[in-house]
Amino acid sequence: MKKYDVAVIGGGFAGCAAALAAAREGVNVLLVEKSNALGGAPVNCLVNPFMPFSTKINGVRTELSQGLFTTICDRLRKHGAMLYDTLHEEGLKYVLSQMMEEAGVDLLYHAYIFRAEKEEGKIKSISVATKKGEMKIEADYFVDASGDAQLTYLAGCPTILGRPEDSLCQPMTLCFRLGNVDVEKFIKSNKRMQAAYKKSLAKGAFLNPREDILFFRTPIHNVLHFNTTRVVKKNPTDPEDVTAAELLARKQVYEIYDFMKKNADGLEDSFLMMTAAEIGVRESRMVVGEYVLTEKDCRAFTKFDDSVAACNYDIDIHNPEGSGTSHYYFPEGEYYTIPYRSLIPQNMDNLLVAGRCISSDHGAQASYRIMPTVCSIGEAAGVAIALAAKSNKSVREISVSELQKTLKNNGAFIGI
Ligand SMILES: Cc1cc2nc3c(=O)[nH]c(=O)nc-3n(C[C@H](O)[C@H](O)[C@H](O)COP(=O)(O)OP(=O)(O)OC[C@H]3O[C@@H](n4cnc5c(N)ncnc54)[C@H](O)[C@@H]3O)c2cc1C
Repeated sequence: MKKYDVAVIGGGFAGCAAALAAAREGVNVLLVEKSNALGGAPVNCLVNPFMPFSTKINGVRTELSQGLFTTICDRLRKHGAMLYDTLHEEGLKYVLSQMMEEAGVDLLYHAYIFRAEKEEGKIKSISVATKKGEMKIEADYFVDASGDAQLTYLAGCPTILGRPEDSLCQPMTLCFRLGNVDVEKFIKSNKRMQAAYKKSLAKGAFLNPREDILFFRTPIHNVLHFNTTRVVKKNPTDPEDVTAAELLARKQVYEIYDFMKKNADGLEDSFLMMTAAEIGVRESRMVVGEYVLTEKDCRAFTKFDDSVAACNYDIDIHNPEGSGTSHYYFPEGEYYTIPYRSLIPQNMDNLLVAGRCISSDHGAQASYRIMPTVCSIGEAAGVAIALAAKSNKSVREISVSELQKTLKNNGAFIGI
């Protein structure tokens, strides 16, 4: 395999935006993904819809994720794969792979990164497990958009897991879809169903500790999306824990569907259409980088000098121990920004991190982890890594003002 200027690990929103943004700056890019398509959590874990990402600035409603995120949404709409804020994952897979082709990004699917080879503060190459065995990938620069900070961890840079007191992460959730639902009838019976659910939960009737049944409409007629299973106190980076979580969550899917058939209307002809290919991980490792973005920074609406993205999604913490979800909603007009330093892992000159695993604490991650924001973070990482690659500089040495200017010129909103 040829050597690349930049290799991006992980084809979720963050990795896709990073690969596209870097290629647009003229470097050659390889995007490595363990599954068979692009999109990450919305594709592998059926996550949907886009959580809110706008606020009023000087009286004008402003989207805090623009740039490549806007382009992706426009393309989804063109393909009939987006309705309001919900997306259709098949459309997303197609749109993203088309964009990669147009941008000249090379793709490597079915490749699972398991080792990083380092030399003097730099990653020299990475190794991926493939059907033909181990494959080595060489690049001058890398972006870790694996969600789990997998490359950063393998390279030996510091990371943390979950919240500081006990390393517990937000719960994992196996999303599922029901087909052939009379959606209007179901929604009319929602209040009654939720009340019955609460009663049964209090009696200890469920394996699932979640406080209510969370569902969403989808762009597909008669199909409902459920983000309602909850597996707590498992480590999302431990394969034995994740296996146990998958097994438990599947039991929860069946228990909740059985319950709904008895306690809600509109499910008479319904069927369990699909569960996600993978249990969804809200939170796992986070890098300890040049700057650790904190919940306190977010609540103070901090605007950093080296801002590269902006966010105002609520600090949305699904209880890592059981029932309940806590929220801190940002007042209208307020938002915080994400500093470039939170994308820079310690002790490594040619690596940036993008997506839900940037350098932050548990509380801040609970806010910026949403799809629109990780896409903006990915775009920033892509431009930054290209600037480093083109000038042969360390990721710490690039001009932040040039990075910010380029992002703005490309239509991104960076909050300052
Ligand atoms: C259950 C659940 C519900 C959520 N609900 C919402 C919601 O309603 N709205 C919203 O906006 N956000 C929601 N989120 C958050 C959001 O979906 C994610 O935080 C976001 O999509 C993460 O994007 P990412 O690109 O950082 O990581 P990911 O999307 O996880 O992408 C990482 C990619 O890296 C690949 N990868 C991982 N390890 C390796 C490896 N070793 N080798 C090769 N490839 C690898 C993965 O296959 C994946 O494609 C939810 C998350 C979960 C789990």
